[in-house]
Amino acid sequence: MNIAICLKQVPGTTAVKIDPQTNTLVRQGIESVMNPFDAYALEEGVRLREKQGGRVTAITMGPPQAEAMLRQAISLGADDAILLSDRAFAGADTLATAYTLAAAIRKLGQCDLVICGRQTIDGDTGQVGPEMAEMLDLPFVSYVSRIEEIAGGHMRAQRMIEEGHESVEMPLPAVITVTKEINTPRLPSLRGIARSKSAQVPVWTAQELGVDTGKVGLAGSATRVVKIFFPQRERKGEVLQGEAEAQVECLLGKLKSGGLI
Ligand SMILES: Cc1cc2nc3c(=O)[nH]c(=O)nc-3n(C[C@H](O)[C@H](O)[C@H](O)COP(=O)(O)OP(=O)(O)OC[C@H]3O[C@@H](n4cnc5c(N)ncnc54)[C@H](O)[C@@H]3O)c2cc1C
Repeated sequence: MNIAICLKQVPGTTAVKIDPQTNTLVRQGIESVMNPFDAYALEEGVRLREKQGGRVTAITMGPPQAEAMLRQAISLGADDAILLSDRAFAGADTLATAYTLAAAIRKLGQCDLVICGRQTIDGDTGQVGPEMAEMLDLPFVSYVSRIEEIAGGHMRAQRMIEEGHESVEMPLPAVITVTKEINTPRLPSLRGIARSKSAQVPVWTAQELGVDTGKVGLAGSATRVVKIFFPQRERKGEVLQGEAEAQVECLLGKLKSGGLI
């Protein structure tokens, strides 16, 4: 079973600063880490490969320094890793990101399953997985919390919904996004660490992917971040006076008028 895992490097802190001129994240001096949800995607892919055989390929679209995260993915069990990196990819929104990743999946050739994290902790949209499935014309299931069975070219999986869980079946190849309930990611093995140091990590550029440069990066982005701001938080405390019964009445009145009950 050939599996592709999409991984993104994200800031390893929530104390990020926004450049007021460009409305982009100030990444200088901030340590980058593997998006936490993507660690679960990788672990699930490695577990499936251990059961079913095949190869696990880790893919990221990012700047050259994202190679370090791909080496980490190899230390955690990925067989191969590919970095999609080109100045033309800079400034990509979710549409352009999904387009570039979909082109890489096509170039990989036979791929039975693409696994993404449910969302990133920086962009936080959860859009890349479903957009990529649409572009690849593959079935898609989000919030997968358990893969129950893979047999006869089909996969049965459990996905999280607000009211509980849903069991779904889909033909393969398919794209899924996973939640952190799906597994507990392993630590890197000594053998994995050694392999990650010597592994080749090919870099695929826009030209090598054969993509339309009008559809990648800023040029291919359908959205523009025009402003980023932090919401104003207003907190007000009030002490209710009087008899207990009157206080309860008063509280209920306030909750009702505020539309809270
Ligand atoms: C409001 C807003 C502000 C933004 N600001 C900036 C900014 O300041 N600077 C900037 O550089 N970008 C910015 N972006 C980023 C850009 O849109 C995202 O980097 C990119 O499109 C992925 O979107 P996401 O992070 O929401 O991923 P999601 O859709 O939440 O990711 C879901 C899954 O898709 C996969 N995935 C996502 N991205 C990649 C990737 N690059 N490679 C491999 N797999 C991936 C992972 O498996 C991930 O778990 C912003 C996006 C938004 C919505």
